[in-house]
Amino acid sequence: MIKKNILIIGAGISGLSIAYHLGLENTQDVLVIDKGYFASGATGRCGAGVRQQWATKQNCLLTQWSMKFFEKAHKVLDYEDLELKQEGYLIVATTDDEVTKFKKNVKLQNELGIETRYLSVQEALDIVPHLNPDNFLGATFNQSDGHLNPFKTSEAFYLAGKRLGVTYSFHEEVLSIQSVTEGFIVTTTKNKYLASKVINAAGGYSKEVGQMVGIDLPIYSEKHEILATEPIERFQGPMVMSFNKNIYIQQVPHGPFVMGRSEIGIKPSHDISSSRSFTRKMSQTVMDLLPKVGELRVVRTWAGSYNMSPDRQPIIGKTPVENYYVACGFSGHGFMLAPIVGKLMSEIILEKETTMTVETLSLERFKNNQEIIVEQFVV
Ligand SMILES: Cc1cc2nc3c(=O)[nH]c(=O)nc-3n(C[C@H](O)[C@H](O)[C@H](O)COP(=O)(O)OP(=O)(O)OC[C@H]3O[C@@H](n4cnc5c(N)ncnc54)[C@H](O)[C@@H]3O)c2cc1C
Repeated sequence: MIKKNILIIGAGISGLSIAYHLGLENTQDVLVIDKGYFASGATGRCGAGVRQQWATKQNCLLTQWSMKFFEKAHKVLDYEDLELKQEGYLIVATTDDEVTKFKKNVKLQNELGIETRYLSVQEALDIVPHLNPDNFLGATFNQSDGHLNPFKTSEAFYLAGKRLGVTYSFHEEVLSIQSVTEGFIVTTTKNKYLASKVINAAGGYSKEVGQMVGIDLPIYSEKHEILATEPIERFQGPMVMSFNKNIYIQQVPHGPFVMGRSEIGIKPSHDISSSRSFTRKMSQTVMDLLPKVGELRVVRTWAGSYNMSPDRQPIIGKTPVENYYVACGFSGHGFMLAPIVGKLMSEIILEKETTMTVETLSLERFKNNQEIIVEQFVV
């Protein structure tokens, strides 16, 4: 039996960031285990967009902190280039209801120091001239939103964690967890460990890893598809997004457009296959909103899992099982939350004062039908 202090299950962006932040606090004997390699789950399949434009104060604060981290990440993680591009998110309003709500969101964000602006159709066209003016009523824009390369960002956390003494084991699957007096006996496809603390950062499989200690986490996984076009000379700076049309479209630094959409009413599953209907519906929506982009050829489609929580906000921290922690339920925005999630999780695990309030992120919030605030502005 191999003894470990902290065993993290999952080397996605969440597990990697938690390990790095624990390493920063000189925590000894931290092991990250993944059944694949780092970023082989949702992280390596995601759009890696980072926005601070949210409807809940909590998500605004979480992403604002994370964005500040990403801005200095190449320095603090000592990684040459994470391909951070801050050319903004332009979110179009396509209904009167969205116009009203977006203006409210801008007010909230501005109060928190997030410099989002509400734009008329003409002002939005000045930023993204190829938008179809007939299909939206206004937009919000934040220049400092953007995206990164998810593989490079993961590698940066991985290497920085390694330098701080974190160890990693890949192609090793956790099969069972048994609670014992000294902690947990974790049985994998390769070893048996005795760990004092276990962290469930298993992304789309967090529910199953929760069940290993008898916890029924209120989460489920659902498929989300995404595609990349042929590369083309750059002509779109910001990420263009529509909640009502359920899409996001960005041009990445080397030229291709990367875009995804949510399928309303999709059933919970671990399916991550690509479908023809996704490409067809994506093309139709792009032709409506950004006809010039709709002319490009698709070169690749893929899919990944969103791990959904009841209020579309993450679940992080302690659980009813002492020394067993979770970081899951990221509902499609876990990449952008990873820096602050790693920081908060390390503080919770090490029993330190947290950088910001964590009660509203805890598993406890779903107990006894307490009122929850659902984040509506998600794709
Ligand atoms: C198409 C798509 C687009 C997205 N776009 C964005 C975006 O633009 N911005 C954003 O912020 N978020 C986005 N997301 C969401 C984001 O990808 C996730 O929220 C985030 O990557 C979650 O990271 P994670 O580390 O929690 O999970 P994951 O990256 O899924 O990592 C979990 C890891 O756990 C491992 N694992 C699971 N079970 C076991 C086991 N039993 N034993 C060992 N290892 C195990 C898996 O192999 C995996 O590597 C998108 C997601 C998808 C699918």
